Amino acid sequence: MTDTQADVLIDVRGVCKTFANGVVALQDVSLQVRRGEVVCIVGPSGSGKSTLLRTLNALETISSGDVVVLGQSVHAARVDLDRLRARVGMVFQSFNLFPHKTALENLMLAPLVVSRTPAAEVRTRCEALLAKVGLADKHDAHPAQLSGGQQQRVAIARALAMQPDIMLFDEPTSALDPEKVNEVLDVMKLLAGEGMTMCVVTHEMGFARAVADRVVFMEAGEIVHQAAPASFFDAPDNERLRGFLGQIL
Ligand code: ADP
Ligand code: MG
Repeated sequence: MTDTQADVLIDVRGVCKTFANGVVALQDVSLQVRRGEVVCIVGPSGSGKSTLLRTLNALETISSGDVVVLGQSVHAARVDLDRLRARVGMVFQSFNLFPHKTALENLMLAPLVVSRTPAAEVRTRCEALLAKVGLADKHDAHPAQLSGGQQQRVAIARALAMQPDIMLFDEPTSALDPEKVNEVLDVMKLLAGEGMTMCVVTHEMGFARAVADRVVFMEAGEIVHQAAPASFFDAPDNERLRGFLGQIL
């Protein structure tokens, strides 16, 4: 493998996905994401953004094409899904924390089960991650005692606790009160600044403009256009993208 190929952490090749009910969610989608890149995926509701993201860690099957993540074809029969999902962290709109566990326990659970790392070492790493997302004083809080923004920051830290190579975010701020959105986006900006490879489905165009290396526009199951943020937002040379931006900006 050449250096260039090794640098492509996500390689989606001509993927089609038709759900059992006949809905075509993805039509010949191809997308490459290189190490350290931040790619924001935008588009109207129902355009296939979540489905695309979910195919990347095999939460969703594909009908045809190939998805190669970290050099591995993730829809092959013999994929180690636990290993894949440890290396590809995912954060959802709904925070999905374990309600009966503390913030720190939420972070420590998976690393203790999956890795052979000693508990003390896992604890130290997880405490550092809670501090990193601004929640050093919330180790012992249960999710119900935290605001939505705090819960989402715990969810991000929990994904990071597995030391992933890639982070996927599916509308991570859409369920938050407006005043809590920035505290989550700030954590994501921090990660991006550290060089994390990220795919972010979002309606936060300010975030996309400021943080993305590339913005991808999906419509009706297709990638219609992709470009660097400046050209994407300021000089969109695509009719359908202009229509979308005209509605939301
Ligand atoms: P987005 O995230 O852009 O809103 P989705 O990827 O969730 O879009 O959905 C794409 C299309 O696939 C939509 O028409 C949606 O209704 C359909 N869809 C999503 N999940 C399923 C499912 N599990 N079964 C059937 N249809 C689905
Ligand atoms: Mg979605």
